[in-house]
Amino acid sequence: MNHEHSRELYDRALSVMPGGVNSAVRAAIEPYPFFVRKGDGGHVIDADGNRYIDWVMGLGPLLLGHDLPEPVQAAIQQHASAGPMYGTPTEVEVDLAEFVSRHVPSVEKIRFVNSGTEATTSAVRLARGYTGRNKIVVMQGGYHGAQESTLVEGDADDPKPSSAGIPQAFAEHTLPVPFNDEEAVREVFEEHGDDIAAVMTEPILGNYGIVYPEDGYHELLRELTEEHGALLIFDEVITGFRVGGLGCAQSEFGVTPDLTTFGKIVGGGFPVGAIGGRAEIVEHFAPAGDVFQAGTFSGHPVTMAAGLETLRFAAENDVYEHVDDLGERLRSGLTDILADQAPEYTVVGTASLFKVIFTRDGPDRNSLEQQCESGCRQDPVCPRYDSCPKTAGDVKAAETDRWRRIFWGQMKDQGVFLSQNQFESQFVSYAHTDEDVERTLEAYKEAL
Ligand SMILES: *Cc1c(COP(=O)(O)O)cnc(C)c1O
Repeated sequence: MNHEHSRELYDRALSVMPGGVNSAVRAAIEPYPFFVRKGDGGHVIDADGNRYIDWVMGLGPLLLGHDLPEPVQAAIQQHASAGPMYGTPTEVEVDLAEFVSRHVPSVEKIRFVNSGTEATTSAVRLARGYTGRNKIVVMQGGYHGAQESTLVEGDADDPKPSSAGIPQAFAEHTLPVPFNDEEAVREVFEEHGDDIAAVMTEPILGNYGIVYPEDGYHELLRELTEEHGALLIFDEVITGFRVGGLGCAQSEFGVTPDLTTFGKIVGGGFPVGAIGGRAEIVEHFAPAGDVFQAGTFSGHPVTMAAGLETLRFAAENDVYEHVDDLGERLRSGLTDILADQAPEYTVVGTASLFKVIFTRDGPDRNSLEQQCESGCRQDPVCPRYDSCPKTAGDVKAAETDRWRRIFWGQMKDQGVFLSQNQFESQFVSYAHTDEDVERTLEAYKEAL
């Protein structure tokens, strides 16, 4: 595979952009990432003309793939050519707000912003403003964007900023606990219950694994927050409109949070974020309430149109059946391949999310028959139960270097584009085909 043009572009980029990229994960691949020229259905074509089956899909936003269906295209063109934005409201914002509140159980009112980061930042401010409390409980390894209150590592007794440039004072208001650890979250509420404004978690750790919740975990978070007058925030930036279809992961798990943050799919491929929830809480945002929140580009008409037409298309076509079916076939195909070639590794994911975690220990080959057939479900009767990842720490302990330095390149050389490290999820789109699945499974067989 020739990467001459990508190398030249990266050389130029290094002179004018830090690390040569505009978002850190894009440079995870060494020595340099490939640059994309264009998308084509479920594929991308790079600057040197190489074609890849694309399971990255913009890291989540592209539910429909790269060729947007005609009504989505038309709405985008129409709003772009009408004059891109105005600084005063438009009808399409109301249409999308109505659509989301009609389909997502927790959402009565919603505020649109421009990124998932902005959504979680505003949700934290809203929770603090509403409760008059400062502390936020988050999951270790959970990702809520590039924001001060959640870029925190360590544990609840000793939280520290996970990035330079963040004062320790921010970390002191954040309490990180291990995902799926009931005891840890109970303890944090015993100790700090009166000071906790909110628990914020992804329903499924989609940026670190993927890690599925144990049965009853979200119910426990719901109970504890209610008991102590704290809010439960589901960060559905990845799972929203992907897991659980138009009802999102909260409908799949049957647990309704007070607030939900959105991003990715709800903008149909354009920059977006949103904070939705109970009217009585969301009404605390300015100008209705006293929690300041604003944005020049918020509710951008082109984004709103792309998001609305994407979701309408999904409502009227077999989008979720198609992507969930291919996701299921990838996960069960991978489960079979691993049983043969790498029984210690774990297949994870649900709906249209999939990944293999390179776990180091697993059950012996002969006891694998009753394992989860299509991605880890934290099933206590599964022979893999004791070794499958339940927390971010478990994922971190996997062979992450082998994944990135050896395996990723072997897949790329076979024309399969996977996410750039062990931690990020992979996504099926409506444009992917049976043949993409078959070819991808063949490539895994070669590379594992
Ligand atoms: C991607 C992501 C974010 C950040 O969204 P950006 O649009 O990149 O700022 C926040 N939370 C979760 C769960 C995400 O997956």
